[in-house]
Amino acid sequence: MSEKSYYEILGVEKSANADEIKHAFRKQAMKYHPDRNPGDKEAEQKFKEVNEAYEVLKDDQKRAAYDRYGKSAFQNGMGGGNPFGGGFGFNAEDLSDVFSNIFSDFMGGGRNGGRAENLRGADLNYNLEITLEEAFAGLEKDIKIKTTEACSSCHGYGTADGSEAPKCETCGGRGKVRKQQGPFFVFETVCPTCKGEGRVVKDKCKQCNGLGITKTEKTIKIKIPAGVENNVRMRVAGEGEAGLRGAPKGDLYIYINVKEHKLYEREGADLYTAVPVSMVCAALGGKIEIPGIDHRKIEVGIESGTQTGTRIKIKGEGMPMMGARKRGDLYVLIKVETPTHLSKKQKDLLEEFRDLKDSDSCQPETKTFFDKIKDLFN
Ligand SMILES: [Zn+2]
Ligand SMILES: [Zn+2]
Repeated sequence: MSEKSYYEILGVEKSANADEIKHAFRKQAMKYHPDRNPGDKEAEQKFKEVNEAYEVLKDDQKRAAYDRYGKSAFQNGMGGGNPFGGGFGFNAEDLSDVFSNIFSDFMGGGRNGGRAENLRGADLNYNLEITLEEAFAGLEKDIKIKTTEACSSCHGYGTADGSEAPKCETCGGRGKVRKQQGPFFVFETVCPTCKGEGRVVKDKCKQCNGLGITKTEKTIKIKIPAGVENNVRMRVAGEGEAGLRGAPKGDLYIYINVKEHKLYEREGADLYTAVPVSMVCAALGGKIEIPGIDHRKIEVGIESGTQTGTRIKIKGEGMPMMGARKRGDLYVLIKVETPTHLSKKQKDLLEEFRDLKDSDSCQPETKTFFDKIKDLFN
Protein backbone atom coordinates (compact mmCIF):
# COMPACT_ATOMS: atom_id res chain seq x y z
CA MET A 1 0.00 0.00 0.00
CA SER A 2 1.24 3.49 -0.71
CA GLU A 3 2.11 5.95 1.98
CA LYS A 4 -0.23 8.53 0.52
CA SER A 5 -3.06 9.69 2.71
CA TYR A 6 -6.57 8.64 1.83
CA TYR A 7 -7.26 12.24 0.86
CA GLU A 8 -4.29 12.30 -1.50
CA ILE A 9 -5.35 9.01 -3.04
CA LEU A 10 -8.75 10.45 -3.91
CA GLY A 11 -7.22 13.81 -4.80
CA VAL A 12 -9.31 15.89 -2.43
CA GLU A 13 -8.57 18.42 0.29
CA LYS A 14 -8.71 17.28 3.87
CA SER A 15 -11.67 19.60 4.27
CA ALA A 16 -13.60 18.04 1.38
CA ASN A 17 -17.28 17.42 1.99
CA ALA A 18 -19.11 14.14 1.40
CA ASP A 19 -20.19 15.12 -2.11
CA GLU A 20 -16.67 16.05 -3.13
CA ILE A 21 -15.36 12.78 -1.78
CA LYS A 22 -18.00 10.78 -3.59
CA HIS A 23 -17.36 12.65 -6.80
CA ALA A 24 -13.60 12.16 -6.52
CA PHE A 25 -14.09 8.48 -5.77
CA ARG A 26 -16.26 7.91 -8.84
CA LYS A 27 -13.76 9.67 -10.99
CA GLN A 28 -10.80 7.69 -9.71
CA ALA A 29 -12.64 4.38 -9.59
CA MET A 30 -13.80 4.77 -13.18
CA LYS A 31 -10.28 5.68 -14.26
CA TYR A 32 -8.63 2.69 -12.63
CA HIS A 33 -11.44 0.19 -12.93
CA PRO A 34 -10.00 -3.15 -14.10
CA ASP A 35 -12.59 -3.31 -16.86
CA ARG A 36 -10.93 -0.31 -18.39
CA ASN A 37 -7.38 -1.41 -17.66
CA PRO A 38 -7.26 -5.11 -18.35
CA GLY A 39 -4.03 -6.67 -17.13
CA ASP A 40 -2.65 -3.40 -15.80
CA LYS A 41 -1.22 -4.22 -12.37
CA GLU A 42 -0.58 -0.62 -11.48
CA ALA A 43 -4.16 0.39 -12.23
CA GLU A 44 -5.33 -2.60 -10.21
CA GLN A 45 -3.30 -1.43 -7.22
CA LYS A 46 -4.59 2.13 -7.62
CA PHE A 47 -8.14 0.86 -7.86
CA LYS A 48 -7.66 -1.02 -4.63
CA GLU A 49 -6.25 2.02 -2.88
CA VAL A 50 -9.05 4.23 -4.15
CA ASN A 51 -11.63 1.84 -2.78
CA GLU A 52 -9.88 1.52 0.52
CA ALA A 53 -9.72 5.29 0.85
CA TYR A 54 -13.37 5.68 -0.01
CA GLU A 55 -14.49 2.95 2.38
CA VAL A 56 -13.09 5.09 5.17
CA LEU A 57 -13.77 8.62 4.00
CA LYS A 58 -17.38 8.07 3.05
CA ASP A 59 -18.22 7.13 6.61
CA ASP A 60 -18.20 10.04 9.04
CA GLN A 61 -17.19 7.94 12.01
CA LYS A 62 -14.42 6.13 10.23
CA ARG A 63 -13.22 9.36 8.71
CA ALA A 64 -13.06 11.05 12.08
CA ALA A 65 -11.11 8.12 13.47
CA TYR A 66 -8.77 8.19 10.50
CA ASP A 67 -8.18 11.93 10.85
CA ARG A 68 -7.20 11.36 14.42
CA TYR A 69 -5.33 8.09 14.44
CA GLY A 70 -4.44 7.43 10.81
CA LYS A 71 -4.64 3.94 9.40
CA SER A 72 -3.81 2.41 12.77
CA ALA A 73 -7.42 3.08 13.71
CA PHE A 74 -8.37 0.16 11.46
CA GLN A 75 -5.82 -2.44 12.27
CA ASN A 76 -8.38 -5.17 12.41
CA GLY A 77 -9.29 -4.52 8.82
CA MET A 78 -12.72 -3.64 7.65
CA GLY A 79 -13.05 -5.10 4.21
CA GLY A 80 -16.43 -5.91 2.84
CA GLY A 81 -18.19 -9.10 3.74
CA ASN A 82 -16.10 -11.15 1.45
CA PRO A 83 -16.71 -14.85 1.97
CA PHE A 84 -13.18 -15.70 0.90
CA GLY A 85 -11.56 -13.70 3.66
CA GLY A 86 -11.70 -10.16 4.96
CA GLY A 87 -9.43 -7.21 4.33
CA PHE A 88 -9.05 -5.46 1.04
CA GLY A 89 -8.18 -8.53 -0.95
CA PHE A 90 -8.59 -8.34 -4.66
CA ASN A 91 -10.80 -10.89 -6.30
CA ALA A 92 -13.87 -10.98 -8.40
CA GLU A 93 -16.22 -10.83 -5.44
CA ASP A 94 -14.60 -7.67 -4.12
CA LEU A 95 -14.76 -6.20 -7.53
CA SER A 96 -18.37 -6.79 -8.21
CA ASP A 97 -19.01 -5.58 -4.71
CA VAL A 98 -17.26 -2.35 -5.46
CA PHE A 99 -18.91 -2.02 -8.81
CA SER A 100 -22.37 -2.45 -7.41
CA ASN A 101 -21.30 0.01 -4.77
CA ILE A 102 -20.50 2.59 -7.42
CA PHE A 103 -23.64 1.70 -9.23
CA SER A 104 -25.93 2.09 -6.26
CA ASP A 105 -24.22 5.39 -5.49
CA PHE A 106 -24.95 6.49 -9.02
CA MET A 107 -28.53 5.54 -8.60
CA GLY A 108 -28.61 7.76 -5.54
CA GLY A 109 -29.57 4.81 -3.40
CA GLY A 110 -26.46 4.58 -1.33
CA ARG A 111 -25.62 1.26 0.13
CA ASN A 112 -27.39 -0.37 2.96
CA GLY A 113 -24.95 -3.19 3.48
CA GLY A 114 -27.43 -5.89 2.56
CA ARG A 115 -25.84 -9.29 2.64
CA ALA A 116 -26.99 -10.17 -0.83
CA GLU A 117 -24.96 -7.26 -2.15
CA ASN A 118 -21.75 -8.65 -0.68
CA LEU A 119 -22.32 -12.06 -2.19
CA ARG A 120 -23.38 -10.91 -5.62
CA GLY A 121 -21.87 -12.91 -8.47
CA ALA A 122 -18.83 -11.59 -10.26
CA ASP A 123 -19.19 -9.75 -13.54
CA LEU A 124 -17.79 -11.44 -16.61
CA ASN A 125 -16.06 -9.90 -19.59
CA TYR A 126 -16.13 -11.13 -23.14
CA ASN A 127 -14.24 -9.69 -26.09
CA LEU A 128 -16.10 -9.92 -29.36
CA GLU A 129 -14.44 -9.10 -32.65
CA ILE A 130 -16.81 -8.29 -35.51
CA THR A 131 -16.45 -7.05 -39.07
CA LEU A 132 -17.61 -3.65 -40.23
CA GLU A 133 -20.29 -5.43 -42.26
CA GLU A 134 -21.55 -7.10 -39.07
CA ALA A 135 -21.52 -3.76 -37.29
CA PHE A 136 -23.54 -2.40 -40.19
CA ALA A 137 -26.19 -5.10 -40.18
CA GLY A 138 -26.18 -6.03 -36.50
CA LEU A 139 -25.87 -9.66 -35.51
CA GLU A 140 -27.01 -12.39 -33.23
CA LYS A 141 -24.41 -14.74 -31.96
CA ASP A 142 -24.06 -17.63 -29.59
CA ILE A 143 -21.08 -17.18 -27.35
CA LYS A 144 -19.57 -19.68 -24.95
CA ILE A 145 -18.53 -18.44 -21.55
CA LYS A 146 -16.98 -20.07 -18.54
CA THR A 147 -19.09 -19.09 -15.58
CA THR A 148 -20.65 -20.43 -12.41
CA GLU A 149 -24.14 -21.52 -11.58
CA ALA A 150 -25.99 -22.32 -8.40
CA CYS A 151 -24.97 -25.75 -7.12
CA SER A 152 -27.62 -28.26 -8.10
CA SER A 153 -27.08 -30.35 -4.98
CA CYS A 154 -27.72 -27.61 -2.38
CA HIS A 155 -29.78 -25.19 -4.53
CA GLY A 156 -27.09 -22.58 -3.99
CA TYR A 157 -27.36 -22.49 -0.18
CA GLY A 158 -24.09 -24.34 0.39
CA THR A 159 -25.61 -26.60 3.02
CA ALA A 160 -25.49 -30.38 3.09
CA ASP A 161 -29.25 -30.69 3.33
CA GLY A 162 -29.93 -28.07 0.68
CA SER A 163 -31.90 -25.71 2.89
CA GLU A 164 -30.97 -22.16 3.81
CA ALA A 165 -28.36 -22.01 6.59
CA PRO A 166 -29.49 -20.71 10.00
CA LYS A 167 -28.83 -17.14 11.01
CA CYS A 168 -25.48 -16.31 12.55
CA GLU A 169 -25.70 -16.28 16.33
CA THR A 170 -23.02 -13.65 16.81
CA CYS A 171 -24.72 -10.92 14.81
CA GLY A 172 -28.26 -12.22 14.65
CA GLY A 173 -28.10 -12.30 10.87
CA ARG A 174 -27.12 -8.66 10.38
CA GLY A 175 -23.63 -9.49 9.19
CA LYS A 176 -22.27 -6.65 11.28
CA VAL A 177 -21.29 -6.16 14.88
CA ARG A 178 -20.56 -3.05 16.92
CA LYS A 179 -17.00 -2.68 17.95
CA GLN A 180 -15.01 -0.30 20.11
CA GLN A 181 -12.10 1.15 18.17
CA GLY A 182 -9.65 3.42 19.94
CA PRO A 183 -10.79 5.08 23.13
CA PHE A 184 -13.73 7.04 21.71
CA PHE A 185 -15.26 5.36 18.74
CA VAL A 186 -17.72 2.63 18.25
CA PHE A 187 -18.00 1.16 14.79
CA GLU A 188 -20.15 -1.22 12.98
CA THR A 189 -17.80 -3.76 11.57
CA VAL A 190 -18.07 -6.99 9.65
CA CYS A 191 -19.16 -9.87 11.83
CA PRO A 192 -16.11 -12.08 12.49
CA THR A 193 -18.19 -15.23 12.73
CA CYS A 194 -20.12 -15.10 9.47
CA LYS A 195 -17.79 -12.63 7.65
CA GLY A 196 -20.77 -10.43 6.91
CA GLU A 197 -22.98 -13.07 5.39
CA GLY A 198 -25.43 -13.17 8.26
CA ARG A 199 -25.63 -16.94 8.01
CA VAL A 200 -23.24 -19.71 8.93
CA VAL A 201 -23.09 -22.95 7.03
CA LYS A 202 -22.19 -25.61 9.57
CA ASP A 203 -22.68 -28.73 7.52
CA LYS A 204 -21.28 -27.93 4.09
CA CYS A 205 -22.55 -29.28 0.82
CA LYS A 206 -20.03 -31.84 -0.46
CA GLN A 207 -20.49 -31.01 -4.10
CA CYS A 208 -19.62 -27.31 -3.87
CA ASN A 209 -17.75 -27.27 -0.57
CA GLY A 210 -20.30 -24.88 0.88
CA LEU A 211 -19.93 -22.13 -1.71
CA GLY A 212 -23.28 -22.81 -3.28
CA ILE A 213 -21.87 -22.48 -6.79
CA THR A 214 -20.23 -24.75 -9.31
CA LYS A 215 -18.21 -24.02 -12.42
CA THR A 216 -19.89 -24.45 -15.74
CA GLU A 217 -19.68 -23.51 -19.39
CA LYS A 218 -22.67 -21.80 -20.85
CA THR A 219 -23.79 -20.71 -24.29
CA ILE A 220 -25.50 -17.36 -24.39
CA LYS A 221 -27.23 -15.76 -27.32
CA ILE A 222 -26.27 -12.14 -27.61
CA LYS A 223 -27.70 -9.53 -29.90
CA ILE A 224 -25.53 -6.75 -31.25
CA PRO A 225 -27.54 -3.84 -32.66
CA ALA A 226 -26.91 -2.47 -36.15
CA GLY A 227 -24.60 0.52 -36.06
CA VAL A 228 -22.64 -0.58 -33.01
CA GLU A 229 -19.44 1.40 -32.58
CA ASN A 230 -15.93 0.15 -32.02
CA ASN A 231 -14.74 -0.18 -28.41
CA VAL A 232 -18.14 -0.03 -26.79
CA ARG A 233 -19.06 -2.13 -23.81
CA MET A 234 -22.46 -3.77 -23.73
CA ARG A 235 -23.99 -5.00 -20.53
CA VAL A 236 -26.02 -8.17 -20.48
CA ALA A 237 -27.70 -8.01 -17.10
CA GLY A 238 -27.74 -11.13 -14.96
CA GLU A 239 -25.52 -13.24 -17.22
CA GLY A 240 -22.44 -13.03 -15.01
CA GLU A 241 -21.41 -15.53 -12.37
CA ALA A 242 -23.93 -16.90 -9.92
CA GLY A 243 -24.21 -15.12 -6.58
CA LEU A 244 -23.14 -16.98 -3.49
CA ARG A 245 -25.91 -18.67 -1.55
CA GLY A 246 -28.79 -17.27 -3.49
CA ALA A 247 -27.45 -13.73 -3.95
CA PRO A 248 -28.03 -11.99 -7.32
CA LYS A 249 -25.98 -12.89 -10.36
CA GLY A 250 -23.30 -10.65 -11.78
CA ASP A 251 -23.53 -9.13 -15.24
CA LEU A 252 -21.84 -10.01 -18.49
CA TYR A 253 -20.00 -7.27 -20.32
CA ILE A 254 -19.37 -7.63 -24.04
CA TYR A 255 -16.52 -5.54 -25.43
CA ILE A 256 -16.98 -4.87 -29.12
CA ASN A 257 -13.95 -4.63 -31.35
CA VAL A 258 -14.78 -3.77 -34.96
CA LYS A 259 -12.06 -5.06 -37.30
CA GLU A 260 -10.44 -2.81 -39.86
CA HIS A 261 -12.08 -2.87 -43.24
CA LYS A 262 -10.30 -3.27 -46.59
CA LEU A 263 -12.08 -0.38 -48.22
CA TYR A 264 -13.77 1.73 -45.59
CA GLU A 265 -12.76 3.80 -42.65
CA ARG A 266 -15.43 4.84 -40.24
CA GLU A 267 -15.97 8.01 -38.30
CA GLY A 268 -19.15 7.89 -36.27
CA ALA A 269 -21.88 6.99 -38.74
CA ASP A 270 -19.93 8.21 -41.77
CA LEU A 271 -17.74 6.07 -43.99
CA TYR A 272 -14.68 7.20 -45.91
CA THR A 273 -12.93 5.60 -48.82
CA ALA A 274 -10.33 6.56 -51.40
CA VAL A 275 -10.88 5.50 -55.00
CA PRO A 276 -8.44 5.73 -57.92
CA VAL A 277 -9.85 7.23 -61.10
CA SER A 278 -8.11 7.15 -64.47
CA MET A 279 -6.71 10.38 -65.78
CA VAL A 280 -8.98 10.19 -68.82
CA CYS A 281 -12.11 9.70 -66.69
CA ALA A 282 -11.07 12.57 -64.43
CA ALA A 283 -10.51 14.81 -67.43
CA LEU A 284 -13.52 13.86 -69.51
CA GLY A 285 -15.96 12.84 -66.78
CA GLY A 286 -17.66 9.48 -66.37
CA LYS A 287 -18.88 6.98 -63.84
CA ILE A 288 -17.26 4.57 -61.46
CA GLU A 289 -18.79 1.78 -59.39
CA ILE A 290 -17.86 0.96 -55.85
CA PRO A 291 -19.26 -1.67 -53.47
CA GLY A 292 -21.34 -0.20 -50.66
CA ILE A 293 -20.99 -1.45 -47.08
CA ASP A 294 -24.12 -3.51 -47.76
CA HIS A 295 -22.32 -4.90 -50.85
CA ARG A 296 -24.72 -3.17 -53.23
CA LYS A 297 -23.15 -1.42 -56.21
CA ILE A 298 -22.98 2.35 -55.81
CA GLU A 299 -22.52 4.43 -58.93
CA VAL A 300 -20.45 7.54 -58.47
CA GLY A 301 -20.53 10.22 -61.14
CA ILE A 302 -17.19 11.83 -61.92
CA GLU A 303 -17.43 15.34 -63.33
CA SER A 304 -15.10 16.36 -66.09
CA GLY A 305 -12.06 18.12 -64.69
CA THR A 306 -12.09 16.29 -61.37
CA GLN A 307 -8.86 16.70 -59.41
CA THR A 308 -7.06 14.41 -57.02
CA GLY A 309 -8.31 15.17 -53.53
CA THR A 310 -11.88 15.88 -54.63
CA ARG A 311 -14.26 14.49 -52.06
CA ILE A 312 -17.65 13.29 -53.21
CA LYS A 313 -20.40 12.95 -50.66
CA ILE A 314 -22.95 10.20 -51.16
CA LYS A 315 -25.84 10.75 -48.84
CA GLY A 316 -27.21 7.93 -46.72
CA GLU A 317 -24.67 5.27 -47.70
CA GLY A 318 -22.85 5.28 -44.34
CA MET A 319 -23.45 3.24 -41.20
CA PRO A 320 -26.82 3.08 -39.47
CA MET A 321 -27.28 5.48 -36.60
CA MET A 322 -28.20 3.55 -33.51
CA GLY A 323 -31.66 4.34 -32.28
CA ALA A 324 -32.55 6.33 -35.43
CA ARG A 325 -33.85 5.15 -38.75
CA LYS A 326 -31.12 6.99 -40.52
CA ARG A 327 -27.76 6.31 -42.01
CA GLY A 328 -24.60 8.37 -42.12
CA ASP A 329 -22.99 9.41 -45.38
CA LEU A 330 -20.27 7.97 -47.56
CA TYR A 331 -17.36 10.14 -48.63
CA VAL A 332 -15.36 9.12 -51.65
CA LEU A 333 -11.93 10.65 -52.01
CA ILE A 334 -10.78 10.75 -55.64
CA LYS A 335 -7.21 9.95 -56.56
CA VAL A 336 -6.42 10.63 -60.19
CA GLU A 337 -4.09 7.98 -61.49
CA THR A 338 -1.39 8.88 -63.95
CA PRO A 339 -1.16 6.21 -66.65
CA THR A 340 1.98 4.12 -66.83
CA HIS A 341 3.01 1.66 -69.55
CA LEU A 342 1.60 3.71 -72.42
CA SER A 343 1.33 2.07 -75.81
CA LYS A 344 3.03 3.75 -78.73
CA LYS A 345 -0.30 5.05 -79.99
CA GLN A 346 -1.35 6.41 -76.60
CA LYS A 347 1.96 8.16 -76.28
CA ASP A 348 1.61 9.70 -79.71
CA LEU A 349 -1.88 10.90 -78.88
CA LEU A 350 -0.77 12.46 -75.63
CA GLU A 351 2.10 14.21 -77.33
CA GLU A 352 -0.32 15.49 -79.92
CA PHE A 353 -2.55 16.67 -77.06
CA ARG A 354 0.37 18.47 -75.50
CA ASP A 355 1.29 20.18 -78.76
CA LEU A 356 -2.25 21.49 -79.15
CA LYS A 357 -1.70 23.72 -76.13
CA ASP A 358 0.24 26.89 -76.69
CA SER A 359 2.51 26.45 -73.66
CA ASP A 360 4.40 23.58 -72.09
CA SER A 361 1.46 21.57 -70.77
CA CYS A 362 3.36 19.53 -68.20
CA GLN A 363 2.07 21.96 -65.62
CA PRO A 364 -1.36 23.06 -66.76
CA GLU A 365 -1.76 25.27 -63.75
CA THR A 366 1.71 26.71 -64.10
CA LYS A 367 0.57 30.29 -64.31
CA THR A 368 -1.48 30.46 -61.16
CA PHE A 369 1.02 28.30 -59.31
CA PHE A 370 3.93 30.53 -60.25
CA ASP A 371 1.93 33.62 -59.44
CA LYS A 372 1.62 32.31 -55.93
CA ILE A 373 5.22 31.42 -55.42
CA LYS A 374 7.11 33.88 -57.55
CA ASP A 375 8.33 35.88 -54.52
CA LEU A 376 10.11 32.82 -53.26
CA PHE A 377 12.49 32.79 -56.22
CA ASN A 378 14.09 36.15 -55.46
ZN1 LIG B 1 -23.72 -27.29 -3.11
ZN1 LIG C 1 -22.57 -12.94 11.94
